[in-house]
Amino acid sequence: MLARLLAKTGAPSLAAPPSLRAPLMLCPVPARRTVESVGERLLVIGGDGAGMTAAAQARRRQPELEIVALEMGRWTSYSACGIPYLIGGDLDGINDLIARSPDEFRSMRIDVRTEHEVVGLDLSSRKAEVHNRAHGRDFQLGFDLLHIATGARPRRPDIPGLEMAHVHGVQTLADAARLLDDARAQQPRHVVVVGSGYVGLELAESFLNRDASVTVVEAAHEVMGSLDPDMGALVARGMRQAGVTVRTGEELIEVTEGGVVTSAGELPADLVVLGLGVEPNADLAAAAGVDTGIKGSIAVDRQQRTSVEGVWAAGDCCQSFSIVSGRPVHLPLGTVANKQGRVAGINISGGYATFPGVAGTAVTRICRTEIGRTGLLEAEALAAGFGLLSSRVEATTTAQYMPDAQHTTVKLLAERGSGRLLGAQIVGGQGSAKRVDVISTALSARMSVEDLINLDLGYAPPFSSVWDPVQIAARQLLPQL
Ligand SMILES: Cc1cc2nc3c(=O)[nH]c(=O)nc-3n(C[C@H](O)[C@H](O)[C@H](O)COP(=O)(O)OP(=O)(O)OC[C@H]3O[C@@H](n4cnc5c(N)ncnc54)[C@H](O)[C@@H]3O)c2cc1C
Repeated sequence: MLARLLAKTGAPSLAAPPSLRAPLMLCPVPARRTVESVGERLLVIGGDGAGMTAAAQARRRQPELEIVALEMGRWTSYSACGIPYLIGGDLDGINDLIARSPDEFRSMRIDVRTEHEVVGLDLSSRKAEVHNRAHGRDFQLGFDLLHIATGARPRRPDIPGLEMAHVHGVQTLADAARLLDDARAQQPRHVVVVGSGYVGLELAESFLNRDASVTVVEAAHEVMGSLDPDMGALVARGMRQAGVTVRTGEELIEVTEGGVVTSAGELPADLVVLGLGVEPNADLAAAAGVDTGIKGSIAVDRQQRTSVEGVWAAGDCCQSFSIVSGRPVHLPLGTVANKQGRVAGINISGGYATFPGVAGTAVTRICRTEIGRTGLLEAEALAAGFGLLSSRVEATTTAQYMPDAQHTTVKLLAERGSGRLLGAQIVGGQGSAKRVDVISTALSARMSVEDLINLDLGYAPPFSSVWDPVQIAARQLLPQL
């Protein structure tokens, strides 16, 4: 039924190269209907952003569709992004991080079942093997349509001591609850954060706010691998100014009762937090025969369809495409998960929408230092075959004579010859990070350096100088083109 319908739509195959500029389209295309009849069941696996956004879309568009959402944890639609601020004491409690509870979904006639883990899938007979964690019961659940939104799992290298109680990964709200309990009970004096990606940085800030002495241990030679090393160095400077001890080029060898052992020696630690990045949680889908792509993430086309008819995927478990290089990427971010979930939900319920890909935009903060990045890094641009030009400028976030002017550094990358913008990184004081959104928009529109210089950006002394810092960086690139 559904499979036959999909086969008839003539939809592009997974192998088709992504159009770099295809807009998100919403148009009534009855021939692409994917819900066949009243009484069909959509099964959603994963109850956070990518899963429940799709479920809510499908409900809105298909009032008759039966929707069952299985979530192995206790919460739905939560903000993992807020965990560092919960730990740091900015929020009252874990409930502040819940956007929509299971009961709210139930009131929308979405049958949410928490503490239900899908442990196996048979895609030919369209059945899921489900384990009810609360009651220890196993059962089978049939479905017609399937949406996989199983997220990502934290990397846990095989290092002695990582299983100890004072070592924390931070991925789910259950992790957050355990970490918060420990932080409150132990009042740790020495905290070691392993890894210096954005989660590591944000958790370093959380524990500074709890008056701990914080050391960040990073195996690479510079912090924040999502930046070029010269911009990472500015972040490391900001971290040190905030009071963090930064130890780069040091590998974690072992966690002991009262500390950690790195390739450079021993450090005291009452509490160890892992921020080593994540990998796609795609084993369930792969074992069921769904094709995987980059880093083992679920391969999807621009409608979020997997290689199996009637099966969609979205969020951290699946891949996306770079709108700059056209290459597949795995970008585990909430922004991407929610947008992909929306597109999947529209398509599942008989509409038509596409996800055009990602620029790779991310912002974060460690105390007073803000960080923004979008597009390609230098090494990525060269690997993608672009002739590369770059500029790096120092500027201020407001007119430089304003009392609260903050220092900011903007690095801009463009293609030699064409002047096409390829990416940007910004590190500086308050008002720096979100400037990267201008460049992200420019990347989506395939703008050139000249286009950016001529953009009509707002100006008044409390907000920027008459040339915004991103435009100053663009002007510096112009003579090199
Ligand atoms: C500390 C932290 C800070 C972050 N900060 C930001 C930020 O500032 N900005 C940003 O854009 N992103 C941020 N992120 C990333 C963002 O939270 C994720 O990209 C987003 O949550 C992904 O949504 P998802 O629905 O794809 O996956 P998830 O949120 O991981 O949800 C997947 C769900 O599926 C469930 N599940 C998995 N397997 C099964 C199964 N077999 N059966 C049933 N249920 C299953 C899981 O329990 C989970 O609830 C942060 C993440 C963390 C951990």
